[in-house]
Amino acid sequence: MGSSLRLFRVWGIDVQVHWSFLLILAYGAFIYSGRSNPLVGALYGIVVILLLFVCVLLHEFGHALTAKYFKVNVPTITLLPIGGVAQLERMPRQPLQEFLIAIAGPAVNFVLTLLLLPVALLVVGMGMGSANPSSLLAYAQSRMMTPSLDGLLVYLAFTNFALGLFNLLPAFPMDGGRVLRSLLAMAMPYVRATRIAVMVGRLMAVVLAFVGLNGNIMLLLIAFFVYVGGRGELEAVESRYVLKDIRAKQALNREARQLYTSESIDKAIDLIMTTYQADFPVFDLGSNFVGVLTRPHLVNVLRTDGREGRIVDVMIPAQEIPVVGPETTLADVWDRMVEDHSRVVAVKEQGRFLGLLTLDDISELIQVVGATKERDEKQASQSAPTTVL
Ligand SMILES: [Zn+2]
Repeated sequence: MGSSLRLFRVWGIDVQVHWSFLLILAYGAFIYSGRSNPLVGALYGIVVILLLFVCVLLHEFGHALTAKYFKVNVPTITLLPIGGVAQLERMPRQPLQEFLIAIAGPAVNFVLTLLLLPVALLVVGMGMGSANPSSLLAYAQSRMMTPSLDGLLVYLAFTNFALGLFNLLPAFPMDGGRVLRSLLAMAMPYVRATRIAVMVGRLMAVVLAFVGLNGNIMLLLIAFFVYVGGRGELEAVESRYVLKDIRAKQALNREARQLYTSESIDKAIDLIMTTYQADFPVFDLGSNFVGVLTRPHLVNVLRTDGREGRIVDVMIPAQEIPVVGPETTLADVWDRMVEDHSRVVAVKEQGRFLGLLTLDDISELIQVVGATKERDEKQASQSAPTTVL
């Protein structure tokens, strides 16, 4: 998410807000400014929207903290005009865990409803005086758009309930769609469960878009997000499916070129220009694997330090490179790269270095194997399998 402002960091999660959020604040101010006192109305509108997004944020923390409980890293939560987005580095493979992570968000809204509604009704009831108590709910509803404490409480109680329900619509990749996928995945393969959930999600997107055509821009945006987001995730799931039958040792490049610690940086530049290889294992004179030089890393070094020096000065030390065994599946290798933010892993057997696997190797395999496996389907995505909800 470019153009987002970081608000604060808590439990290792960066909470940020997209600039377009200002539009929603302006919208809130506008809606309520048509009251008796426009300035008070506008300020009230801003308070309403801010509190609403506090609820959205709590919803996202519901997802994020449940994910963290299952050891899934959550780098950021972003507030957008159409709601919040908690970015998970991966979805857990166990359907039950996905189910719990997905449902935790709406659950927060329902808990908030249960907490707010009695207080709201109490305050409304007190303000009602001796009016007919049987119309309490109707009266409460009529207070919703009035700048007042009871109006605010009623609004938040109802809106949290609506938010919880709306998010449970089976519109993958919205929460309800994830709930559906996880339930399906308990009874069938993950890829098939995802395909069905995406299909149902697209139908829902069309329905939402139709309803949104009445002039609800939010719904149109959400319909678009559902339609596009579903396909992206399906591709990621299918790519992973392609990789789960291949072992690390099968994917090692036997012809890979290597560098030595004592060689000059020029040697690395030369290799990058004259071969298709972008990442090189580095050995010392005793032929021990001691580090890696990746193309992005080399480019950074050239930018700051120029081309003077030797490989040993600029390589990434071997200790910082994730290690996998020869029998590890490429699906797990890929997860490892995403989790460790590393474009290479070292394949080792009992301490002996067998070779490097790189993000380029994985992308190539997804394309080649994916194409033969499902000849008539479009090329698999190279995007990392990050998820948002
Ligand atoms: Zn959610």
